Amino acid sequence: MKIVMKFGGVSVADGDRLRKVGTIVRRFHNEGHALVVVISAMHSVTDSLIDIAKRASRGDKKSVTDFIEQTHRKHRRAAEASIMGEQILGQTLSAVDARIDELKNILLGVAHIGELTPRSKDFVIGYGEKFSAPILQGVLEDLGIKSKALTGGEAGIVTDDRYGDAGPLMNVTAHQVRQTLEPLLNEGTIPVVSGFVASTQDGVQTTLGRGGSDYTASIIGAALKVDEVWVWKEVDGLMTANPKMVKSARMIEVISFAEAMELAHFGAEVVHPKALECASKYKIPFRVKALRNQDGKGTAIESEVKIKSKDVVKAISNIGDVSLITVSGASMVGTPRLAAKVLQILTDEEVDVLMISQSSSEENITLAVPKAGGAKAQNALELSLLGTKQVREVSVEDGLSIVAVIGAGMRGTPGVAARVFGTMAKGEINIRAIAQGSSELNISFIVKKADAKKAIEALHSDFGLGD
Ligand code: ASP
Ligand code: MG
Repeated sequence: MKIVMKFGGVSVADGDRLRKVGTIVRRFHNEGHALVVVISAMHSVTDSLIDIAKRASRGDKKSVTDFIEQTHRKHRRAAEASIMGEQILGQTLSAVDARIDELKNILLGVAHIGELTPRSKDFVIGYGEKFSAPILQGVLEDLGIKSKALTGGEAGIVTDDRYGDAGPLMNVTAHQVRQTLEPLLNEGTIPVVSGFVASTQDGVQTTLGRGGSDYTASIIGAALKVDEVWVWKEVDGLMTANPKMVKSARMIEVISFAEAMELAHFGAEVVHPKALECASKYKIPFRVKALRNQDGKGTAIESEVKIKSKDVVKAISNIGDVSLITVSGASMVGTPRLAAKVLQILTDEEVDVLMISQSSSEENITLAVPKAGGAKAQNALELSLLGTKQVREVSVEDGLSIVAVIGAGMRGTPGVAARVFGTMAKGEINIRAIAQGSSELNISFIVKKADAKKAIEALHSDFGLGD
């Protein structure tokens, strides 16, 4: 098979783990698969790059030199602990040293000018992946496998210039990625591509948004039309419920892209939603594989999943701590623009809206937002709406939790909502608000935080998910 394998920051957090990643790659290479590896920055490196970029822009040269020293040491140590052969280690260290020098010059430049543009910020924060990829190349060579590290841009990923959240131009990208990677695969060399970073058509470095290495894997998978994209994880795969809440939670064997995206939206973000969207669009099967169970199949995420009759519900997910905002006022009736206005205000404040429900009498709109955004949302809504006469009150209630029941089998199956709410009634759990998307992929509702665990356990058991 042709496979893109992606390893995240935690999985390459130190030399021992990098070595382990190397042995996993070697195993599947020896089994005869053609592999492209995508790697994240070592754990926490991207965060510290974002932090130092800010400090540098304030002119703080001392922090820059300290940071450079620490980061240099961290990567040198990882290389020294994972690469045994002296010659390969020497080459790897020179590659790391050269990039450290580049980064130092850039950061000192930023400190000197005292300005950080989105473009220069993207240049800085992509260095994590530009350090980790050459180290993994060294590890693979040390294990006797031909390998070549490339940045996302070198691999052929071309994006627009929305720095910090760039999107791939898929036609050029597909063409270029094939041109660069296919010859390597044909001669048995494993490309190790830096995730997260890419480049504009003019060769300026961009990044794909936080957590974007998964997206890199899907983009390359789509370009090369691979058989599967594998994302290796510390967890077993996608689960029927959070195992910390529900003891009988199981790994899901097969799930559709649409269901996996719902799960990602409602708190169980194992794979970046953009990666799922991309793989889904180009029909590239996706697999979440567990590092602690290499032989296991993990969770397969596919375009078309046959729904077995008893599998109405796939998983119960949950967002732990939310606030409920209610905008009410009698004269809201028949003023369609108000809902749009409310959403626009929250968008401007960068408050994520998790759920919306509006009663048909239109006397109020209820929105769930993450608790951290609750007060900010209330302030902004009061400021803009209270003077308008359409709105009488904006209230906020904390200490709540969203429970989402997810599964494509709910579509067109009558009685699922009745079952869900029957289960809640039996458990004497009060429901504060309800929403169902017209896709019928999920039913979500809001309960008191203190009731969430009980609600999830009861649903998990009533829908037979633990069996
Ligand atoms: N290193 C990047 C980040 O921390 C991308 C990734 O890890 O997927 O956001
Ligand atoms: Mg991630």
